[in-house]
Amino acid sequence: MTQPHLSPDSSDPQTRFPIGECSSGWLFPLRRAVKRWGYGAIALLLASTIVVSTPSTSQAIDFGDIFNILRNGIRVYQLSNLSDRQEVELGEQIDRQLKRSQIRVITSPDVVAYVDDIGQRLARNSNRPNIPYQFQVVRDAKVNAFATMGGFVYINAGLMVAADNEAQLSGVISHEIGHITERHAVNQMRQRAIAQGVASAAGLDRSRAVQIGVELALNRPKSRRDELEADDLGLTYLNRAGYAPQALPNFLRKLLRASSPPTILSTHPNTGDRIALLEAKIAQIPESQRGKEGLNELEYRKRIDGWFKITPANSQRRR
Ligand SMILES: [Zn+2]
Repeated sequence: MTQPHLSPDSSDPQTRFPIGECSSGWLFPLRRAVKRWGYGAIALLLASTIVVSTPSTSQAIDFGDIFNILRNGIRVYQLSNLSDRQEVELGEQIDRQLKRSQIRVITSPDVVAYVDDIGQRLARNSNRPNIPYQFQVVRDAKVNAFATMGGFVYINAGLMVAADNEAQLSGVISHEIGHITERHAVNQMRQRAIAQGVASAAGLDRSRAVQIGVELALNRPKSRRDELEADDLGLTYLNRAGYAPQALPNFLRKLLRASSPPTILSTHPNTGDRIALLEAKIAQIPESQRGKEGLNELEYRKRIDGWFKITPANSQRRR
């Protein structure tokens, strides 16, 4: 089966980085070593490195991999050991690619500032406050939200319209932050790369990683464990930030009651189970420690209706 490529020549690292052409500073020390000790010694050095570091023949490192790392170290990612900086960098690349081809984001400063304020408040109260977060509103009437990696969260305008108040919107954003703090997209990217057989022992090259990241952002297979974990953490972050935690199960209940429940529910674990687990967790929080903010429906409605002239049920424009 042919996989779509982001660039036509992304499949073959040898083509992209032909041996014999040196443009990267990575190779200069190797050149000096060649001058001093000759090619034979270097080949022996590389060969012994391979023997020592290769755990099994199925993961044998070939010379293409080694030259890839030497020439292009930063573009090959070890997904099992991705640094925060690399994750943010990948998130930025995926974001750029998504906006180039798949989604349109709303750039109105009021909308951007409103959602970003909420998102940053929640991110500060998350278990991973030390990476930059970016919250963007997608020009789409469907009730949906998603996250990629490295702090990138996307909320559809349709979801903002469907929520009754700021605490409900915040509950969804918290859930997405939960996916980021637990690195769910990174883990799924690793699994998919292995399943597609595109990750070498050296790692996954950038264009493949971005391609998989875009696929996952648009059509992520929902793992029940990941979703329940994001609910659980999302509720914690929501409450820590001072929002009423009850808003999250209330929003799910509202979506469930809708005449045509949005696909976001059918792609997630059973909504009844999610609501029950959230309610049980809220019951464990002492009344005095429960957040109370974000419940003013009139204020929220006025703000949102001033921005978006769509109805979530049928996506028709209001007259
Ligand atoms: Zn989710």
